[in-house]
Amino acid sequence: MARPSPLEIYALLDKSNCKECGYDTCMAFATDILERKIRVQDCPHLMQDPKQAKNREKLIILITPPQKPVIIGTGDRAVTVGGEEVLMRHQLTYYNQTAIFMEIADDDPDLEETVKYLTDLKIERIGDVLTLDGIALRNVSGDADQFKLAAKKITEISNLPIMLCSINADILLAGAEEIKDKKPLLYAITKDTWEQIGKFAVQNGLSVAIFSNNLDELMSLSATLQKLGVKEIVLDSGTYYGSGNLSITYDNIMQLRTAAIKKENVNAGWAVMGVPASYWSLMDISDDKKLWEHQYQELIMGAMMESIDTNLIVLHTGKKKEEIWALLALMTLRQSVFSDPRIYPAVDPGLYKIGEPEDMAMAPIFVTSNYRMTKIPVEQDLKGANLDCWLLVVDSEGIGIESAVAGGQFNAGSIAEAAKEFGAFDKVKHRILILPGMAARLSGALEDEANAFVVVGPRDSSGIPKFMETQWKPDEFMKEYESWGED
Ligand code: SF4
Repeated sequence: MARPSPLEIYALLDKSNCKECGYDTCMAFATDILERKIRVQDCPHLMQDPKQAKNREKLIILITPPQKPVIIGTGDRAVTVGGEEVLMRHQLTYYNQTAIFMEIADDDPDLEETVKYLTDLKIERIGDVLTLDGIALRNVSGDADQFKLAAKKITEISNLPIMLCSINADILLAGAEEIKDKKPLLYAITKDTWEQIGKFAVQNGLSVAIFSNNLDELMSLSATLQKLGVKEIVLDSGTYYGSGNLSITYDNIMQLRTAAIKKENVNAGWAVMGVPASYWSLMDISDDKKLWEHQYQELIMGAMMESIDTNLIVLHTGKKKEEIWALLALMTLRQSVFSDPRIYPAVDPGLYKIGEPEDMAMAPIFVTSNYRMTKIPVEQDLKGANLDCWLLVVDSEGIGIESAVAGGQFNAGSIAEAAKEFGAFDKVKHRILILPGMAARLSGALEDEANAFVVVGPRDSSGIPKFMETQWKPDEFMKEYESWGED
């Protein structure tokens, strides 16, 4: 599908360059609206001038992605699912990563503690903070009051978006009535419940998830609900385990995504979800397998779904503290799959302060490259070791150390130049540089170029604490450095 160009968008704007939106020109506004950094509502002329109403409508249609976005929840943690323009990330980028919801039963005695833990869960990894996206509250009790009580409780202790799950429409809507102001996702509409749940969703402006393992039926329900006035839909074609069923699950999701992105079927133009957690209700877990062997099945399904840009997944494993490994695996994978290929993985070269090295005459100076995936982990390891030191980040054209040494982008000259440019030796009373182990072969040339004593550090920055303990002897190094002039 061809994307609209900034010029096409510009043609629908006021073109007065009035700057009221904060942009100097309407053209700059057009460029950023295409990148979803701003919204149509940010131009007061489009919103308030009745003469521009037609252009506003045209613009909204022009920039609405073929797979429409769905917003679940309210406030800071509201999550957008779907809204993608491409099938493969490299064709442009994915805009909204797979939202991970954790299922909790409404009769879970640990509900409160679990919700608090999941709400506060934060994993820091290479400069990003990874968090969970929502709670899927399952009606296991079969009791509407219990469901309402649990839904209300979650909203009191958490700002995470909620997906209400029940196959009983009366119970589902009892819970929805209780927390409708929090904009929960209603799961699930079937051929038997579409009218009752659909009407409630329209009246209250809520999003719904449709479930059917028959794609034709799914499309038919999608069409019916849109006609009814439902504005936000998530499609669930089922998550199936057992021999051959992984490929059926995969195929169904890909068919829906393809039909949406290629605009083959307007009824498919919505976010797609999967429920890896269904493993625990569909499969026999009373066999000889160990618990982790079952959990792995669920996580493999979750990983498969993330890798094909399924827009929302519901997990069972990972809600307990001791199951953090499961979320670590899926959140790490998600971070990789959804990184923007258009953003160059480089950070600014410079001299970075770690801890409080200012008053330390012998504060160590570590050298690294400006590849983002190198600089950030090194920085985190230095902080994790509670070191007060300097980190000299050299411009290696955003390439990692090993490749940049081989390709010549990370060389003695560029390191010496960076040390001079950023005044590394002005901050300390020594002339010692700690070179990463992977660049050891540059040490001789660097000593000449930078007029410094060069120590080779560990190959991996996780070895820095040990290196500091056993090999960092700045006074000895400086004695040796000073003796050079006497030779
Ligand atoms: S507020 Fe609207 S008219 Fe004014 S510069 Fe921005 S886009 Fe153009």
